Amino acid sequence: MFEQQKKELEKLQKELQTRLDHLQKDLSSAHSSDSDEQAIERENDEVVEKLRDETELELSQVRQALKRIETGSYGQCEQCGEAINPQRLAALPYSTLCIQCAEQSAT
Ligand SMILES: [Zn+2]
Repeated sequence: MFEQQKKELEKLQKELQTRLDHLQKDLSSAHSSDSDEQAIERENDEVVEKLRDETELELSQVRQALKRIETGSYGQCEQCGEAINPQRLAALPYSTLCIQCAEQSAT
């Protein structure tokens, strides 16, 4: 069950991990001593930090989904326990809510 999703999630996990490594490297790279340059770099850092946070969040969702495949709870809505629409899972393999619950929690 869910072999396809598992493969996709594992691929996604690798991609996100690679992206995260790059972003971390970006953030820890040495800054120039020029104060004008530093201002630009600080702005850039904020963008990179935001990206890193988003990537981390996505990565943790992917990890959770993989765990749910192992434990057999994958494909079930966390809120109402109903099966999540397969089309939704195909589009968003780490979704944990069915469409109804996702819409409810979004409003
Ligand atoms: Zn639901």
